[in-house]
Formats: sequence, C-alpha cells, structure tokens
Amino acid sequence: MDRITCKFGGTSLASAEAIRKAQAIIEANPARRFIVPSAPGKRHGDDIKVTDLLYSWHDIAKRGLDPSQPRNMIAERFEGLAKELNVDIDFAAELEKIAQEGLTYDKPDYMASRGEYLNGRLIAALLGATFVDPAESIMFNSSGRLSESSYGLLGEALSGDGLFVVPGFYGSTPDGRIKTFSRGGSDVTGAIVARATHSSLYENWTDVSGFRMADPRVVTDAKHIADMTYQELRELSYMGAQVLHDEAIFPVREPGIAINIKNTNDPDHPGTMIVQTREPKEPLCGIAGRKGFSMINVEKTLMNKEHGFGLKLLRVLTDHNVAWEHMATGIDTISLIVRTEEIGDNASTILDDIERICSPDALSLSEGLALIATVGQGMANHVGIAARLFTALAEAGVNIRVIDQGSSEMNIIIGVADVDLDRAVEAIYHGFESAVSTA
Ligand code: ASP
Repeated sequence: MDRITCKFGGTSLASAEAIRKAQAIIEANPARRFIVPSAPGKRHGDDIKVTDLLYSWHDIAKRGLDPSQPRNMIAERFEGLAKELNVDIDFAAELEKIAQEGLTYDKPDYMASRGEYLNGRLIAALLGATFVDPAESIMFNSSGRLSESSYGLLGEALSGDGLFVVPGFYGSTPDGRIKTFSRGGSDVTGAIVARATHSSLYENWTDVSGFRMADPRVVTDAKHIADMTYQELRELSYMGAQVLHDEAIFPVREPGIAINIKNTNDPDHPGTMIVQTREPKEPLCGIAGRKGFSMINVEKTLMNKEHGFGLKLLRVLTDHNVAWEHMATGIDTISLIVRTEEIGDNASTILDDIERICSPDALSLSEGLALIATVGQGMANHVGIAARLFTALAEAGVNIRVIDQGSSEMNIIIGVADVDLDRAVEAIYHGFESAVSTA
C-alpha cells in the first residue's frame, strides 16, 4: 500500500480550527501515515509565530532579563489549543522543563525547536498517533551536516503499523544536543521522513496551492505551476520563491519521491507536483528575484594571461568568509556577485586586500543589486528565449547590470538595480505570457 509523508506548515496549524482541517485531511486517506508538524504560525497579520516567541525567550533569558512575556504567550497558545482540541497535556510542566534546559544552551537551537516538539506532542495526542522525537533519530555530524545514519534510525523508529508524528525542524548533534535546521526547516524534516519511510509521495501542506510563475504580490495574476522538476524548484526557491525550503529536495531527489505542495484551505486543488523529470509544455517555468546583492568589479589588463589571478581574488573573499554567488568575466574584467550581508562592515578591508594582493587597474564595489532568475527546463534548445527576455526588459526601460546563464540552459540570471526588481519581474512575466499564448 502507498505510504505518504505529510508535512504541515505553521499557518496550517496556527489555530484549533486549522488543526482540525489538517486532521480531516490526514484521516481522509489511510496512506497518510507519517505526519511532520511545524510550530503554530501566525493566525492573523499582527500575530507572532511560536518559533519567534521562542527565539525571543532564549535571547531575553540569556541576557539575564525576565522572559515571562514570551513564555506566557507560548503557554497561552498551547493551553488554548489543548483546551479547544480536548487534549490533555501538562504544558505548564513542559514549559518549566524548557526554561531550565534552555539555559544550558548558548545558542537558541534547543529553545527554538520546542515549538515543533510541543505541537508534535499535541497533534500526536489528538490523532492517537505514536510520537517519535527526532532528537533520537535525525543526526547531524560534527560539521553540522545531516548524517546518513539518520535514514536508518528514523526508518526503524517509524516501522510498524499506524500513524506517526515526527516534529519538524530539529535533530541532535553527536554530543546529544539539540540542533535546528535553518528557518523553515520542517520542510527538510518532511523530506528526510519521506525518504526514511520509503514514502511514495511527500505532501507538503501549506496555506497556498503551490507555486505561481511569479510572486503574486508582484504579478497578481501569475499562473499556477502544475509541475516542475527538483532542479527548477531549487533554482526558483534559492532566488526567493518562498513556498518550500530550498534544501528540502536533497533527501527525496535520489530516491525520486515526488513532492506535492498542497493547500489545507483548498485540499481538492491539485497544487504543484515537484518531480525528477517532466515534459515541459512551455519554455518558462517561473521567475523569482531577490534583493541584497553587491558586485565587486575588478579590472586588470591582460588578467587572462596572469595564471592564478582568479584564485587570488577568490582567496581574499574566502579569507573574509564571503561566498561568491556568480562570476561574470570579460577579457580584462571580472565581476563577482556576493550577498551584501556577507560583506557586512568589511567592505573597505576586503577592497584593500584585493588591491594589495591582486594589484588591479581599477576596483569598485556596487551595492543595491537584485538578481532575477528566469527558469524553465523548456528553455534549453529553444530559440529566441533570451531575445524575448531582453526585449521585455528593454521595453520596460529596465537597465540590466549583469547577465549569467548557467550551463544547464535552464536558468538565465540577470542583475538589475534593487529599485527595478518588481518592474523587471513583471516585464519578464508578461513578455513570456504573450509568447506562451501565441506558441
Ligand atoms: N518553525 C520553524 C520556523 O518558523 C520551522 C518551520 O516552520 O519549518 O522557521
């Protein structure tokens, strides 16, 4: 029989009413056996996510101040949920334990993970399911990466019949301490559970019906994406399409488990299917853009003849812990695109070091860059894609600062000024929309 792993996001579990909807979804299909909950998210615009309350609890307590405000708000959320859902858990005792244990950690990981832990306990009790704590089976190695042993451990813990609940977002380090994934990491837990249980499908339940071809806040009528490949997803989510954590595909990619993004408020909508391969009907899959990049521009006559020039330049960045995202080269020029936040306050030291080590003829840093990825497996070997893209931008009066096309031919990245981001995304979308309808 099919087995399905279902991850439910924070907004889909934010209130008792939302949790009841998730329960109905789980109970509608007996194949839905492995449930991965996030912590309760926002119930309305001004609300605070439980995870954010936990981060501030840790921060306030570590500074030796009184954390009762976030602590009480968390207690109220869980006690309210338990009451409305008729579940009996002593949250006061749980929170006391968290307060004690949290102080033994310098970093906020333990505290932050408790939203998923408590919500997992609550949902397991509601569903009459077996609670499996990932602290005992999702393992990070000493360099902070997921250990392969996690799949076996988790597979064992989740063997047997019935329904299981595994809280998202965290695991343990080799010394038995709790460690979280980066924010939104319950998506990654869901993917690990899907792989460990040999699930036939990973359903990722959230508050939208999957991906749209562009951010709907920018292009209000952007079309829904019915299917996309892991690679297309990775390119789009890395560049800002925020529906799924960009590392969630790694566990499921190798076994080829499809991810289905679904909406708890519209469970009959097919959502977006993310698969290994697909036959693209249209050249474009989606467009995503993100602000916050800077470009280091280096000019040196005959740099192409100077062996190791690029290496020296990249070494300076490595020494300052700055990763480069893209590199555009001319005969005598190199431009490196980096995240502005990684440069932080070190801009002048980095430039001084490049000056000293690489002796360029000219060197500058331009900030305020946004990158836009235009992604689609169908773009490869398709004549006229670049022309359409650049014509659309030219017609919208957007100046392109840099262009980069990956070797896969499925992603064209352009850099524009921050202020032009939305206008550029809209222009590209509409440029391709007409192409699609007349194709
Ligand atoms: N609750 C965590 C966060 O807010 C993890 C998650 O929801 O996936 O980032």
